[in-house]
Amino acid sequence: MSDIISCTCLCGAVRFEIARPEKLNDCNCSACRRYSPLWGYSPPAEARFLQGEGTTIGYARGEKSLAFHHCPTCGCLTHWQGLTDGNRAFNLRLADNPADIEGIRIRRFDGADSWTFLD
Ligand SMILES: [Zn+2]
Repeated sequence: MSDIISCTCLCGAVRFEIARPEKLNDCNCSACRRYSPLWGYSPPAEARFLQGEGTTIGYARGEKSLAFHHCPTCGCLTHWQGLTDGNRAFNLRLADNPADIEGIRIRRFDGADSWTFLD
């Protein structure tokens, strides 16, 4: 287990690290139920790109409040970024060592409807 979790996309082009979050969100919204990420949230000072920032491709769906970003080479979903604020979250499924996310509570978030936790 590590206090700083390093993550890399499949091809290695995008790398980031994030302080171990208290929880991971498993969201059921129209995007997340297809992408299947585990979202880790962290204050900006506790998460940073090590490589590939600005090279990812963003996709903003209908309401355009945020964009989902993926690696242009291998397609891994890396993070989402707020379009009008600095909010963002990272996909911890990209953890270099899967054991690093063991033990973090995974919460089921109802992004499809109520915007509350289901557990
Ligand atoms: Zn990649």
